[in-house]
Parts: sequence; C-alpha cells; structure tokens
Amino acid sequence: MERKRIYLSSPTMHGDEQRYVQEAFDTNWVAPLGPNVNAFEREMEEYTGCGHASALSSGTAAIHLSLKLLGVGRGDVVFVSDFTFSATCNPIVYEAATPVFIDAEPDTWNMSPEALERAFAKYPNPKAVICVHLYGTPAKLDEIMAICEKHNVPLIEDAAESLGSTYRGKHTGTYGKYGIYSFNGNKIITTSGGGMFVSQEEEATKRATFLATQARDPARHYQHSQIGYNYRMSNVTAGIGRGQLMHLEEHKARKKEIYAQYREAFADIPEITMNPLNPDGDANCWLSCMTIDGECKITPDMVMDTLQEVNAETRPIWKPMHLQPVFAAYDFIPYHEDGGSVGADIFARGLCLPSDIKNTPEDMELIIGTVRACFGK
Ligand SMILES: *Cc1c(COP(=O)(O)O)cnc(C)c1O
Repeated sequence: MERKRIYLSSPTMHGDEQRYVQEAFDTNWVAPLGPNVNAFEREMEEYTGCGHASALSSGTAAIHLSLKLLGVGRGDVVFVSDFTFSATCNPIVYEAATPVFIDAEPDTWNMSPEALERAFAKYPNPKAVICVHLYGTPAKLDEIMAICEKHNVPLIEDAAESLGSTYRGKHTGTYGKYGIYSFNGNKIITTSGGGMFVSQEEEATKRATFLATQARDPARHYQHSQIGYNYRMSNVTAGIGRGQLMHLEEHKARKKEIYAQYREAFADIPEITMNPLNPDGDANCWLSCMTIDGECKITPDMVMDTLQEVNAETRPIWKPMHLQPVFAAYDFIPYHEDGGSVGADIFARGLCLPSDIKNTPEDMELIIGTVRACFGK
C-alpha cells in the first residue's frame, strides 16, 4: 500500500467554516456581497488592527487595486521584492508600468534596505515600493519605511504569506500605506481563493471596494465614469474565511512548532540552515525552509527526490523574478555591489519542507529521519 501523502501546506477546516457557509445558503446570500463579507472585513480589521479592509477575489487583485489607487501607469517605475512569487509583480505589468527588482538580504530573505537605497540612486522617482514578507518572516520594516519616507514614496506590503506575523508587536500588512493578504488554498488560512486589501485610510479602502465592484457610480441606473473590475469576494467564500480566522492563532502556533522541531532536529547537521526569522518580529512560520551549505555535495533536488519516495510533498524555493524569462527585460538591483544575488543563491541551495499543520508526530519523525539520512545521519 502506498504511504499516505504528507502535504506541504494544505487547507485545514474545523467545522466553523461550514456553519457560516450554511448560513449564507439558508438566507440565500449566495452573492458577491452579504453579511459574511461585511463581517469578515470587520473581523480582519479587529484581528490585524489594519484600520479598514476590503474583501476581494484574490491577493493579486488586492495588489492590482493598490497600484490603481496610487495612479501607477504606463512607464512608471515600481520597486518590488525580487525574491517572491510572480503574483507580487504581475499587476505592475498589467498597468504597463516598469518593475525594478530589489534583491533580498541574508538576514530575513526579504527586500534588502541597502539595495533599495541604491535603487533610488539609479531611479530617483519610483511611484511605489512593494515589499514582501516571504514565508511569513517580517521584512526589515523600520529600515524600509525610513527609506520610503525619506524619498516620499508609498509602501505596499505584500503580506500574502505572513497573515498573523507581527513586527515590533504590530501585524505585517498594517505598516505600509496599503497592505494585502491572500486566502489562497495553501496559505495559513484559506477561503479556497480570496484576498484582502487593507489600509488605515477609510477613503482608499472605500475606493478599492468601488473599483472591485465594476466602478459603479452612485446612481439608480448603471452609470460608469471609470473602468472597474469584478474583484469582490463572494458571501459564501467569506463564510469560509470567518470560520478560518477563528483558528488562525492556532494555525500559527502549530506552524511555529513545526519550524522549531525541524530546527532542533537538524541542529547537529552543519550543512543545513533553516530559513531566517526576524528577531524584531514574530513570524507565522507559514513554510519551513532549509538551505544546504554550498560546499556540500547533497543538492536540494536530492533531498526533494528522497522525500518524494516517502510520499512527502516539498517545493523548491521561489525562483527570483530577475531569473524569470518573462521579466528578463527589467532591471535588477543586487544585494552585492559586484552583482552577486542573495535570492539566486538561496534559490540554488534551498527547499521548502512539508509544513502542513495536520502532520502527525509520526509524519514529522519520518520527514526528519529521511532528511537526516540524506546527510548520513
Ligand atoms: C499567494 C501569494 C500572492 C497572491 O495571492 P493570490 O490570493 O493567490 O492571488 C501574492 N504574493 C505572494 C508573495 C504570495 O505568496
């Protein structure tokens, strides 16, 4: 019999989700608006302290609307984390603007403040900065925000992977002018698919909701003075989100346990280093990742293949955007002044370990034993 599948990060439902979904059915609120949408927004506002929230169909939609609100358009430069998933920067190109990729730094794997500062020397007038909190680890927000303020450029926080992570006691996603969260299937909580735009500015949030509902002017007839989008979250989906949010802290605690367990289990293997956390924050540990010392003969592919043999799901580290064929035409500001890229190095040496909160102690033992065996332990 094939061994049971061990997942990277799959949805974990609790029953509360079904209750809210049932309510939507019972009241026939099966629509892109309704009480679950409103309540999910209020509950997210309360949980994160984000001020105001607009529930959307995806995190990507939230990034897109953030750029629309800032008036980003053709030819505008936007500084964006290079070491991320393509959803972070695709919306820049939707608007025919120009992404400039900013390398990661080794301490947190997030946008390097030094590279960001150097980018301003080359492009003095970017329209926005989009910074990611990769794998749930908060970026160096103090430094990044100081640079953005100095140059008077708005910051958008892509907190798609870091819902529940805090930096200096405040939630990631609530520091920038705008923040975004994702509820895609593999994220720390999920609505199957969905996202949220958040901001301390009530007017901006209202405008995001307006653009997300086809930019319909307040008139009895269908009147439009602007181009809009169909980006709103549905009332059924929001019901799943409400049920999930009740369990977010529990998910985070379990993710942190998984990370701690891996770190402890590999502590005696000098070739393995776990992904960094930020001492100024409290990470949700969405995915536990490891890198292998560059001198070591064991490659990430070898470890992933071996874990596949015990039916454990892994994933390579995100491939940096400046290495993606589709973004080859855009500029990249590396961490090292001689051109060396931190993101490319981590990509070459890293992998994501199974980080599913349903992993049993036996699953964890199997994964850990399998990885250790790769290193002759
Ligand atoms: C998942 C993710 C997104 C996109 O969110 P969707 O809800 O899937 O559109 C954006 N940025 C990062 C870093 C992500 O991991």
